[in-house]
Amino acid sequence: MPGTVTSYTVEDLRFPTSLDEAGSDAMNKDGDYSAAYCTLRTDDGQVGYGLTFTIGRGNDIVCSAVEQVASRLVGWKTEELFTAAGMGRMWHYLLADSQLRWIGPEKGVIHIATAAVVNAAWDMYARHEKKPLWQLVADFTPEEFVAATTFRYITDAITPEEALELLKSKEAGKKERVAKLKVEGYPAYTTSVGWFGYPDEKVAKLTREAIAQGFNHFKASSQAMKVGADVATDQRRLALIRSIIDDPKECAGRPVPSAGSLVGKQAGPTGSVLMIDSNQVWDVQEAVDYVKQLKDARPWFIEEPTAPDDILGHASIRKQLKPYGIGVATGEHGHNRMLFKQMLAAESLDVLQIDSCRLAGVNEILAVLLMAAKKGIPVCPHAGGVGLTNYVVHLSIIDYLCVSGTKERNVLEYVSHLHEHFEHPPTINPHGFYNVPLDPNEGYSIGMHDESKATYVYPHGKYWSGAGADKVKANGDGNKLA
Ligand SMILES: [Mg+2]
Repeated sequence: MPGTVTSYTVEDLRFPTSLDEAGSDAMNKDGDYSAAYCTLRTDDGQVGYGLTFTIGRGNDIVCSAVEQVASRLVGWKTEELFTAAGMGRMWHYLLADSQLRWIGPEKGVIHIATAAVVNAAWDMYARHEKKPLWQLVADFTPEEFVAATTFRYITDAITPEEALELLKSKEAGKKERVAKLKVEGYPAYTTSVGWFGYPDEKVAKLTREAIAQGFNHFKASSQAMKVGADVATDQRRLALIRSIIDDPKECAGRPVPSAGSLVGKQAGPTGSVLMIDSNQVWDVQEAVDYVKQLKDARPWFIEEPTAPDDILGHASIRKQLKPYGIGVATGEHGHNRMLFKQMLAAESLDVLQIDSCRLAGVNEILAVLLMAAKKGIPVCPHAGGVGLTNYVVHLSIIDYLCVSGTKERNVLEYVSHLHEHFEHPPTINPHGFYNVPLDPNEGYSIGMHDESKATYVYPHGKYWSGAGADKVKANGDGNKLA
């Protein structure tokens, strides 16, 4: 008897990250990293785990939406599900509820909730095949890859036939790339050095620690405020980071990056690259005027300079900052493939930052990887959150092996928070590269310890019903108008 999906559970998990300002930025000052965590079960004992990420309040709303989407998978036979084409059909089915669709379509709460369910189904499929997710997808034929990908609404940018051709062209050398990847790992950058709320001493200490870990790409959160004093703060903080990462003595012993990996990135004398993230705070011209004042820090890019949906605004910022050698990166709030289609068409970005849960899971991400590869834009996924590092290493590996065929200029975000809660947390090698997930039973690497769930489930878990939680619950007025 083939297995059948018979049940699901959804848990509202929240971690009190606002206490130490990990993850803080100019827009999101006091997030409690949270997950709407979905577990799918079959009657023959198979499980699949998936989550979507939020930063606290509202996670219950997402959980409610996850339940509605997950209920649509009940009754599906695993033999219908566990093929590339089956996953493709599942995706379209989940997106096609004629009533739920109204509260999107394909954006916002319903879309990120769909991601949790889609990712859980992929996790279950990968576990069933006894392969980590990246390998499951990398072992697809180009035809299977196309069958798993959604092309709805984007065939004016890329057709399934074009995608097939692109994927076939990358078949040669795939084996060699797998071998190379297992030796080298996948290049990473660190965001953990300069969160918004960190004082200078902490920034300096964390920058030195990141160098010791082998990193040569560093990202800092801009203070990104509208008053001049904060430009000065940014200038000071960025100069501080530059003074450390550009100092040959500070970087002695760190692996030397290849010249090719630094092309167009305004790298310093030691091969260090600096990036800035402003998390959507500015209007278009404000972004240009502000970032120009940071030109001496020679950032590779400004990330999320304005509203994430503003395709033409990003294009304008990109054009105006180009003379300063500063690029534009965006995508962590890119809510669907149609947005990325337009961003790419309008030449709005230099670096595309997909989010594994903002887009509705693996099927839609494959579509964006294909569109970016066609345009030659590097994909450097977003990973600041709980569980996102676990996910994106698989996605970047898929991009390298099957789609873009390169990882030379790509860097995958790495943050070190909350890894202790996962059964298969991501790890970094001494070169500051992600190790390749290799356990045949880890699926999409998002299985979480039962103890962690019991502690952080909201609001009745051990942590949230304890005395320490009151301080966290009082957080949350970070964006209140003064
Ligand atoms: Mg960001």
